[in-house]
Amino acid sequence: MFLKTKSTQDEVSNVRFVNGVVQLNSVKLNVYCFETDGVLIDTGSQSVAEEFKPFFAQADIDQVVITHAHEDHTGGAQFLQTEYGLPIFMNEMAIEECAQKAYYPLYRKYFWGARRPFEARPIGETFKSRNADWTVIPTPGHAKDHLAFLNNETGQLFSGDLYVHPKTKVILRDESIPTIISSIEKTLSYDFGELFCCHAGYVKDGRVALQKKLLYLQELRGNTLALHKKGYGVREIHSQLFPKKYPITYFSFGEWNSIHINRSIVNEGNE
Ligand SMILES: [Zn+2]
Repeated sequence: MFLKTKSTQDEVSNVRFVNGVVQLNSVKLNVYCFETDGVLIDTGSQSVAEEFKPFFAQADIDQVVITHAHEDHTGGAQFLQTEYGLPIFMNEMAIEECAQKAYYPLYRKYFWGARRPFEARPIGETFKSRNADWTVIPTPGHAKDHLAFLNNETGQLFSGDLYVHPKTKVILRDESIPTIISSIEKTLSYDFGELFCCHAGYVKDGRVALQKKLLYLQELRGNTLALHKKGYGVREIHSQLFPKKYPITYFSFGEWNSIHINRSIVNEGNE
């Protein structure tokens, strides 16, 4: 019962990236971080920190920006800060949390390791890199502090966990599908092409991918609300729309579950 880790590096359109994989038996999770124009976007998890060190060592970075405080995005932050003295920028609301010891369920510590405390600074609405101005797009839903970063010169979008998969089947208990829908709509109002996702990696036609996801979620919301209107409760709606059970639901003790999709939609309708 040992966690296996591995990583691969690649580069596309002047973006260098490293992909770390953690695996226990049949459960395999992966995470990316990206380097472009002196900026490192996200830092991977503590569990792949050793795997990512050669990537960091070869990187030419002035600053680290973080899409959200989840441990698979912030696990390398403390190392980058102490080893290279790099400034780290993130959503102001998550700075205090990241300065403390991390609290999250044991299964997440098992896969992602224990995120070490680090000192971050508020990122603001825009930032500059060597050759580009960037727009910071608040994109809550997956997490309250979630941000996406748009390189205005290249039209490349670094979307954190906004995309991940076009047909989301399970979400975290705290996530909100209606808020994610609004965040995707907001993001689509910007001009971007390529997308760099922390779990799906490089998506060449990012706009089309994100539009696809938006349509899927809107349809899911429509179906959920239609059943709710007929008098069905969240559990019944869930078993009709998501008859299949997913392994992550078991090993996360329900923190990841498709029922949270339906519940977040029904709850929003009741507010
Ligand atoms: Zn996340």
